[in-house]
Amino acid sequence: MRLVLLGPPGAGKGTQSQRLVEKHKIVQLSTGDMLRAAIAADTPLGHTAKDIMARGDLVPDDVVVGIIADRMEQPDAANGFVLDGFPRTVAQAKALDDLLGRNGLKLDAVIQIKVDEGILIKRIESRLAEMTARGQPVRADDNPEAFRTRLTAYRTQTVPLVEHYAATGQLKIVDGMAEIDVVSRTIDQLLAHSSA
Ligand code: AMP
Repeated sequence: MRLVLLGPPGAGKGTQSQRLVEKHKIVQLSTGDMLRAAIAADTPLGHTAKDIMARGDLVPDDVVVGIIADRMEQPDAANGFVLDGFPRTVAQAKALDDLLGRNGLKLDAVIQIKVDEGILIKRIESRLAEMTARGQPVRADDNPEAFRTRLTAYRTQTVPLVEHYAATGQLKIVDGMAEIDVVSRTIDQLLAHSSA
C-alpha cells in the first residue's frame, strides 16, 4: 500500500499516518520528521533547513526529493508507505511520479484531509498550551506567526496538488473536522473501496 496524505498543518496527517502504519504494516515517511532529525543531528541538511523551517517556509524541492528518494529505497519501505507532508509542491509530485514509475510502482491513493482553516489556529493554540502544560518541547515552527506562514505555503503551493491528483483519479477526500476515529474509519472505507 502506497499512500499520500494531503492536508494543511494541524489537519491530523501525523495521527492518521500512524494508524495506517499499524493497520497496513507500512512505514510513515514524514519529511518534516526527517528534517527535524537532521537539525537535531546538526548535519549539513539540518543547517540548510533550520531557518527556513522555523519561519514556516518550504525547504527547496531538490532537498526534500533527495531525502525521500533515499528513504524509499530502504528495505523497510518495500511493503509500502504513507507519505506524510510530501509532496508539497507540484514539482515534488512530479518527481515522486518519476521515482515510483522508474521502479514500476504507483500510488494506491492520495487522501486529502479537509479542514476548516479558521479552526486550525485554535487547534494549534490548544495543542501548544497542552504541550507546554505537560512540559513537552514545542516545535520551533509551532507559533502563531510561523503557523500562518505554513498555512499560506499550503494554500499557494500544496493546494494545486489536489487538482493534479484529481486529474489522475487517485484523489480521495475526507472530512478532517470529524472525530479522529471517524476520520480513520472513513479512510479505511475509502481504501477498501478503491482496492475492491
Ligand atoms: P511538517 O512536519 O510536515 O509540518 O513539516 C514541517 C516543515 O518542514 C515545513 O513547514 C517545511 O518547512 C518543512 N518541510 C516538510 N516537508 C516538506 C516538503 N515536502 N517540502 C518542503 N518543505 C518541507
